[in-house]
Amino acid sequence: RCRLAPAPRMMAEASAETEAPPAEEKFEFQAEVSRVMHLIINSLYSNKDIFLRELVSNASDACDKKRFLALSSGTDGGQPEVFVKADKEKGTITVEDSGIGMTRQELINNLGSIATSGTSKFVDALGENGSGDMNLIGQFGVGFYSAYLVSDSVQVVTRSYTDPNAKQYRWESDAENSFIIREDDSEPFKNGSGTRIILHVKEGCKEFLENYKLEELMKRYSEFIQFPVYSWASRT
Ligand code: ADP
Ligand code: MG
Repeated sequence: RCRLAPAPRMMAEASAETEAPPAEEKFEFQAEVSRVMHLIINSLYSNKDIFLRELVSNASDACDKKRFLALSSGTDGGQPEVFVKADKEKGTITVEDSGIGMTRQELINNLGSIATSGTSKFVDALGENGSGDMNLIGQFGVGFYSAYLVSDSVQVVTRSYTDPNAKQYRWESDAENSFIIREDDSEPFKNGSGTRIILHVKEGCKEFLENYKLEELMKRYSEFIQFPVYSWASRT
């Protein structure tokens, strides 16, 4: 990923570096991100299935990174795994991994800004009316945002493996040009680190909340993932 992309502009007053970050902070997406999200949300692309491939592939990358770090530091990173669950009552799909997780700053950088060159290529590929091939989204380094093909709001709960003092954070956006980050006190990660993506499934996409549908997609998109991908039902 491009590390040079400017960090998203902070909307709240910047706090002095010596101060602890405020409990909740609102950020504006980098313009390129807003543009990509707008294209995705308004896309008429019918193969929305691919959101699961992108999220499972990110989960797998995160497990890879943690395994690598654990091996190189001679520590035990725990079992790398990915869980997917649909909750029909809440109208949510959750994709959880026990991977490397993200620090607060990584949340801001990774889910708030993107490599500009990738974005403009993506926009070119989709065309201004967004009718092009959304299936290529992962190749442009913006796969995460495919979550908004099926969601009107997304939460990302995460705790980093790299910082032993890391707190658990929640990123949240309904794609209206901004996102919020706050400390999170929901269920901690079994292995100490990981990421839980919670999709609030939008009208017209409720079929993805059906277990048979999700399981079918999981089979399709976890075929080449080297870590176990479970549906929540099988969780022990
Ligand atoms: P790419 O995977 O091509 O880098 P994405 O848009 O799919 O692009 O993801 C953006 C970035 O967000 C990733 O590079 C990674 O740093 C971070 N990220 C996304 N999902 C996860 C996850 N499950 N765990 C840790 N980091 C993640
Ligand atoms: Mg990705």
